[in-house]
Amino acid sequence: MSKWTETIPLDASRRDLNGPLRGARNATMLKVLGAPRAHYTQQCQDPTNPDLIELVVREDVGPFKVKGLRPAVETLRTILAEVKVDQPEIYGLLGHVGMLCCRYVRNSTSAISNHSWGTAIDLTIDGVLDKRGDGRAQRGLLAIHPIFNKHGFYWGAAFPTEDAMHFEASDQLIRDWHGTGRLIAGPAHANSADAGDGVVEFGDRGPEVVEVQRRLAQAISGEIDADGIFGAATRASVMEFQRRNGLTIDGIVGDATLALLRRSTPDPA
Ligand SMILES: [Zn+2]
Repeated sequence: MSKWTETIPLDASRRDLNGPLRGARNATMLKVLGAPRAHYTQQCQDPTNPDLIELVVREDVGPFKVKGLRPAVETLRTILAEVKVDQPEIYGLLGHVGMLCCRYVRNSTSAISNHSWGTAIDLTIDGVLDKRGDGRAQRGLLAIHPIFNKHGFYWGAAFPTEDAMHFEASDQLIRDWHGTGRLIAGPAHANSADAGDGVVEFGDRGPEVVEVQRRLAQAISGEIDADGIFGAATRASVMEFQRRNGLTIDGIVGDATLALLRRSTPDPA
């Protein structure tokens, strides 16, 4: 066992580990890349979207080969080259358990994992996988995450359910790639209230979802699990809140719904 596989407890500040970077939202991914396939389970399946498949490459990124979305694989190669210089010992221990894998987020039946687009990777150190959800992170992952952040990759240690093995192209990086033509745009099926920075909607994950869920639980006294995953139950609660308050009932937390939700509930602890 290497000292780099030892785990360090993370405190509440783990939510801020990525600075301004945000995990890539389902709305963003669907808008710029389209749906990888029609149906998902908890198991890995291959994408069926031909536009996406065209962007998938299998290449060497330094310590190993990966199969993923072309710009993600290219960025990963840059990141790992920097890890090799800054943290050669950790670099020598790095492995992975997969990049492209179409499935739901673990324990979710609504949020699509970003592995589905091949823009996320789960790393191992010395063959050891960091345990998800225990609020701890391997020392080696902690040491290299700033290099990932520097190149626009978001570290899963900040997810509502800590997932320190996981790194993914951030929402900002995906938009960047889209803006600079590095992605082939998927079919135009994004919904009308898509992808504004302040919008929280179905398929989203993160602290902004936790806030919405906590406020909804107060505002409509619903049985809402503040798990940070915007699924069907959360959407139903949003629609109920909108119905009661005379807002447009679309199940999307846009500016108007968020403002009213914040005004009508005290700040959650
Ligand atoms: Zn992952």
